[in-house]
Amino acid sequence: MKIMEVPPRYPNFEQTAIKKFWDSLKEKKLLATKCSECGKIEFPPKIVCTSCYSDKMEWTELPKRGRIYSFTEMHVVPTGFKPPLTVAVVELENGVRLFSYVVNARFEELNVGDEVEIDFQEINWYDYKKHPYFVFRKI
Ligand SMILES: [Zn+2]
Repeated sequence: MKIMEVPPRYPNFEQTAIKKFWDSLKEKKLLATKCSECGKIEFPPKIVCTSCYSDKMEWTELPKRGRIYSFTEMHVVPTGFKPPLTVAVVELENGVRLFSYVVNARFEELNVGDEVEIDFQEINWYDYKKHPYFVFRKI
């Protein structure tokens, strides 16, 4: 099967309101935004609360542990990744759910509810360069 290459389209985060999120990944921190009005935590970070539409958002660091909420195995993967790729939705201790891939366990080795920790790796992006991002590591 021929797989189409994804064209480079890495956004210029230097000019976005969530530049701090991308900068924090370099320091192995995972940031979200928290609404100062209603307390909702937003991930990915947002400049306006999706619950009460307030623009009074502040940065908050997410917990480093969670549990597998759902997972699957990808055999057709983005450019720069090697199949099979185990990806998961993880629910953190504060209820926020994240999507990324599991670096140290195959599909057969995972179960819903397994505990994972957030780790950080340089991964390939669509600009064919490596950038820091968060991944999951089974404990
Ligand atoms: Zn709010």
